[in-house]
Amino acid sequence: MPRSILVTHALPYANGPLHLGHVLESVQTDIWVRFQRMRGHQCLFVCAEDAHGTPIMIRAQAQGQTPEQLIAAVAQEHKRDYDGLLISFDHFHSTHSPENTALSRLMYERLRDAGHITRRSVRQAYDEQAKMFLPDRYVRGTCPRCKSPDQYGDSCEVCGATYSPADLIDPRSTVSDTTPVWRESDHLFFQLGHFEAMLREWLRDSRLQEGVRAKLEEWFAAGLQDWDISRDAPYFGIEVPDAPGKYFYVWFDAPIGYPASFKALCALRGLDFDHWWRAGSGTELYHFIGKDISYFHTLFWPAVLHGAGFRRPSSVFVHGFLTINGQKMSKSRGTFITARHYLERLPPEPLRYYFAAKLGDGIEDIDFSLDDFVARANSDLVGKLVNIASRCAGFVAREGGMLATALPEPALQQEFVRAAEQIAALYEARQYSQAMREIMALADRANQYVDAHKPWLLAREPARAAEVLAICTQGINLFRVLMSCLAPVLPEMARRAGLFLNCEFTRWDAIDTPLLGTRLNAYEALATRLDPARVAELVVAPPDAATSVPAAAAGKPPGKATRAADTAGNIAIDDFQKLDLRVARVLSAETVDGSDRLLKLMLDLGGERRQVFSGIRAAYAPEQLNGRLVVMIANLEPRKMRFGVSEGMVLCASGDGPGLFLLAADSGAQPGMRIS
Ligand SMILES: [Zn+2]
Repeated sequence: MPRSILVTHALPYANGPLHLGHVLESVQTDIWVRFQRMRGHQCLFVCAEDAHGTPIMIRAQAQGQTPEQLIAAVAQEHKRDYDGLLISFDHFHSTHSPENTALSRLMYERLRDAGHITRRSVRQAYDEQAKMFLPDRYVRGTCPRCKSPDQYGDSCEVCGATYSPADLIDPRSTVSDTTPVWRESDHLFFQLGHFEAMLREWLRDSRLQEGVRAKLEEWFAAGLQDWDISRDAPYFGIEVPDAPGKYFYVWFDAPIGYPASFKALCALRGLDFDHWWRAGSGTELYHFIGKDISYFHTLFWPAVLHGAGFRRPSSVFVHGFLTINGQKMSKSRGTFITARHYLERLPPEPLRYYFAAKLGDGIEDIDFSLDDFVARANSDLVGKLVNIASRCAGFVAREGGMLATALPEPALQQEFVRAAEQIAALYEARQYSQAMREIMALADRANQYVDAHKPWLLAREPARAAEVLAICTQGINLFRVLMSCLAPVLPEMARRAGLFLNCEFTRWDAIDTPLLGTRLNAYEALATRLDPARVAELVVAPPDAATSVPAAAAGKPPGKATRAADTAGNIAIDDFQKLDLRVARVLSAETVDGSDRLLKLMLDLGGERRQVFSGIRAAYAPEQLNGRLVVMIANLEPRKMRFGVSEGMVLCASGDGPGLFLLAADSGAQPGMRIS
C-alpha cells in the first residue's frame, strides 16, 4: 500500500551560512525521503527559512539593511547550498510569509479560545537608547558568582552559573552599550501543563528513540512549565492579533513554518492541506532534528498542534551533533566548515556517502574525520563500487555492446536481490551505516565474482567470447542492484549510471528484474578519487588568526610563517590525534594459504567489521585469538595484498630478540572505543 508521508528537517536560521552540521541533517533527511519515493510512496519534503527574531533584526540594522533584505539574501545562499548538496525539497518557503502569518494567528486564536493561553507580567531588561526590550543574550556583565567580566545575561561561560540578567554586576546592553533599566510588561504564556496526559500518550505511540524518551521523562518529572510565546515591539516577527505591539516569539512561529511551507506547496500542486494536517489524519508526518531542539519538537510542538485542533507528528527523528576530527566544530580551530567552503572544493556525493556510512538511528554524536573521509570515499565508492562497472564495461563494449540474454549465475543474482530487501528495511529504520556496510560487503562479493572468473584471461581466446559476455553481464547486474541500493545516497551517480545502462534508478522494485539483452552506452567514469590535499583544505585557520603571526613574518607568503618547523623526533599532539587507534575484538582468525607469516583477522570495531592481515602467525595460533581484545589503527589507507584487502593494522610489541606481543586493553574496554 503506498503511504502518504510528509517529511521536514529543522529550518535553517536566516542569519548565517549553512555548515556541515546542517548538511548532516539535510543529508540524513534527504536519503530517507529519496528512499521512500523509490519504494513507490508519496513522500513530500518541505522546509523554510526561519526568518524571525531579535538576532535577525539586530544583524540587519548592523548591516544597514531591512530584515527583509537580509533574509532574502541569506535564503538565496541557503538554496544554492541545498541544491549543491542535491537536497530534493518539494518546497522551500519562509516563515516570513502570508501562509505562516495566517496559520500562526489561527493556531494562537484556537489555543486562546480553548483556554490554553494566560497573561502574566514579566520583568525584563530594557534599553532606553535603542528603545527595546533585551533578550538575555543581549545583556552582558560581570558574573555574580565568579566575578568574570563580560558574561551573557543567562549564564557564565567561565564558571557555568545560570542566573537572570538582573543578577549581573554592571550589566550593559550589547545593542547600545548603555546600562539597561528594568521594566514590567505583559506577556502571553502557553500552558504546556494542560497537555501532560496527551503528551504521555503521544510518547507511547510515536516510537521515539530511547535517549529522547528518557529526556522527556526527565522533563515530565521536573514539571511542565508555562511557555512565554510573546515579545514586545520592536520585534521582527508576526504581530499577535489581539495584542497590538506584541509579537509571537520566533520559536512559536518557527515550527508552524512546516505546515505553512506545506500550505504553499498545496497551492502549487493542488494538494488538500486538511487531508494532511487535520486531527486524526491517516497520513504520516516526521520531523528530522538535532538533539539540541528536541524540547521544542517533542513537547511544545505536539501540544500546540493538538491544542489547536491539528494532527500531531507521527514521530520525531533526532540525531546527535557533528564533530570534526573528534572535536566540537570551532571557528578558532578552523573546523567551522561551511557548506559553501566544502562545495567550492569537493563534490557532494562522497560527503553524502560518508555521512550515510556514519549515521545510525541513535542520538550519539557523529564524527567527520578528514582522513577517514578520504579513505572511505576512495576505497568504497571508487575501489569497490565503481570498479565493478568499469571493469565489466570494456568487455561488454568489445563483444558488441549488448548484454547477454541470460545470467550465468541466477542464484547469485537472487542472493543480491534478497539482500536488497534487507537493506531497504535498514533504510526504513534509518540505520544507514549498517546499510552501507551490507552494500559494501556485497560489492566485495561482486568483485570477487569477477576476479574468480577472470574475463581478462578468457578474452584472449576468441572462442570464449560468449563466456566473457555472460560473466560481465552478471557483473553489470550485480552492480545495478548495488547502485539501486545506493541511489538514495548517490542520486547523481545513479543518474549517470542510468545513462550508461539505459535504465532508471527511480524504483526499488526494478531490482527484481535483471537487465538482459540491453544495449549499453559508452561508459564514463562514475566517480573519481578524492584528492587528500583538497580535503585537507576543508580545515583552515580563519582569516583573523593571521593577526597572531609575528610581525617579522609580515610580507612573507601566507602559510610559511604560521607553521613552526617540526623539531626532530617530537610530534605535536595534533599529529598523534591523526591516528585513529581503537579497541577491536577478534571475531575470527585464520591462516592464509600461501603465507607462513600472516593471519587473516576479522575484527569487530563496535558494530563495524574490518578484515586485517597481520604478520603474527609465528607468535600466535588462530584459536588463541578468537574473542580477545586488540588495539588497531583504524584509519590506515586500506592496502590491497595478494590475499585480499587489509583494512587496518593490529599493534604489537617486539624487540631485538624473537617474540611478538599483541597489545591488549584492560577488561571493561569495548570494541570501537577510541584510544587517546
Ligand atoms: Zn561565573
